[in-house]
Amino acid sequence: LKGSNDGMTATDKEIERALRPLSFEDFTGQVKVLENLEVFVRAAMQRGEALDHVLLHGPPGLGKTTLSHIIANELNANIKMTSGPVLDKPSDLAGLLTNLQPNDVLFIDEIHRLNPIVEEYLYSAMEDYKIDIMLDSGPNARTVQIKLNPFTLIGATTRAGMLTSPLRARFGISSRLEYYDAKLLTTIVQRSAAILGTAIDETGAYEIARRSRGTPRIANNLLRRTRDFAQVKGNGYINVEIAEIALSALEVDQHGLDEMDIRILTTIIEKFKGGPVGLSTIATACGEESETIEEVYEPFLIQEGFLKRTSRGREATERAYIHIGIVPPYKTGE
Ligand code: ADP
Repeated sequence: LKGSNDGMTATDKEIERALRPLSFEDFTGQVKVLENLEVFVRAAMQRGEALDHVLLHGPPGLGKTTLSHIIANELNANIKMTSGPVLDKPSDLAGLLTNLQPNDVLFIDEIHRLNPIVEEYLYSAMEDYKIDIMLDSGPNARTVQIKLNPFTLIGATTRAGMLTSPLRARFGISSRLEYYDAKLLTTIVQRSAAILGTAIDETGAYEIARRSRGTPRIANNLLRRTRDFAQVKGNGYINVEIAEIALSALEVDQHGLDEMDIRILTTIIEKFKGGPVGLSTIATACGEESETIEEVYEPFLIQEGFLKRTSRGREATERAYIHIGIVPPYKTGE
């Protein structure tokens, strides 16, 4: 998925780690979510208990993984990381759970993609800190119950709606991360530039920020690419001019829409008369997976008023027509 960790090189991962805030104080934005989490973390620490299980949801790149590390740091606990698709068998889960120290954190990314059998096991682990493990098979089959140390499960998902209700019900805390506004992202870009040792002025930082689809991961990536342009085509210093050059070379438009955003809108408008058209049809026409369109592109296009989701499918808005440079059709009754 774009905006997720896929396709990242080792250096990318290293840099992403270096740019990651480590404490609540260091984390910019998502104020309400943070305020609540700080209270819950402090209360759990004071009682010497494990923090209640936390579900973090929202589009990729908004800080779910980062926040999970922060929560573990603030709890003085260890964090074990895994993801839904990786946990193939109940024994994979059992292995992780039985190795947790009291009040540790288990982070499961893409928790909506858990194998249903593994998910079943997670229920009793979350609820009673125990799991039943099946030993042997056939006539000798028997289950033994293993008691676990109290722990906190942090689940991250881009698709809260795809969680089963029994799983969702077992999270005492559920927080939705929102897209960041340009001002917050400017702060994030400036912070990252300082860590990377890159000189940047406020207008340069703002230009990158406002064209980053409200997403810190994208802002950081655009900053790194802009830094390359500044180094090769300028004197290493990032200002608004260099940012403009870099962003247009990267095909990030004035509104922060990238090539795929534009392709989605153009397809709906030119091939399907502006919609409504079904998601899978759009996906085929754009050569992208439905899931990626739904999780990565669509939420931002909807939030920015370029796209509407109706019961009959996706529709391009008047704003989309104007942005693409096509006269919107006259619609009666609207
Ligand atoms: P997610 O898990 O939601 O996909 P991540 O936590 O991996 O997102 O964040 C992606 C990148 O964006 C990380 O490098 C992280 O440093 C940066 N980032 C995310 N949120 C913030 C924030 N609030 N402040 C600073 N950097 C952030």
